[in-house]
Amino acid sequence: MGRYYHGTIGGKFWFGVQSSYDASSFKDQETNKIPIEYFEYYNCGCQVEKTQNLYCNQCYSTYQEHYDDLDDDDKENIDDEEDDDAEDDDAEDNDKKKLLAHPSGHIKYEFDESDLEYIKLILSKLESEIGIDVITQLNFTIDENENDEFEYDINNDVVKNIDDIKAELIARWCLGKQIKKAIDTVEYCTIFCEI
Ligand SMILES: [Zn+2]
Repeated sequence: MGRYYHGTIGGKFWFGVQSSYDASSFKDQETNKIPIEYFEYYNCGCQVEKTQNLYCNQCYSTYQEHYDDLDDDDKENIDDEEDDDAEDDDAEDNDKKKLLAHPSGHIKYEFDESDLEYIKLILSKLESEIGIDVITQLNFTIDENENDEFEYDINNDVVKNIDDIKAELIARWCLGKQIKKAIDTVEYCTIFCEI
């Protein structure tokens, strides 16, 4: 169990105190705080960003062909979604084609050197909130794991008896340090987060 993230960096979100959207903290513009949400097509399982086609044009040549290929459960799911937002729709919208995909359960963030100054700013704010003594005791180290992702390690004894508010800040600081390490080393950081 648990929510993991992978990509240029890898790790596990802290249980109970860290959101899957925590990387938004390191984006300075309000519009950039929203991660890219991924959808997975029914049946073929291809993953795409929300804005793309209603059906998977990699696997099917028409909408109808994809729709006809779905099993009954998936067809029901799509019809249920139609009910959810039916209120504002005209009656004729019953014929409207629906997205033949469902949320994939992960989101994506992309960072590069243009984010670096803001990341440093947030890290230093977090450091003063957490306290330099705690930061030192964490004994934070970072290394590439077997999947070539930057993964960190800390002294977990330090966080055992800490309150949730401070734990949340420490979890965020660790994530920010990972993102910074990736940008410093390979000039970008892509993160796929389980939600
Ligand atoms: Zn497909």
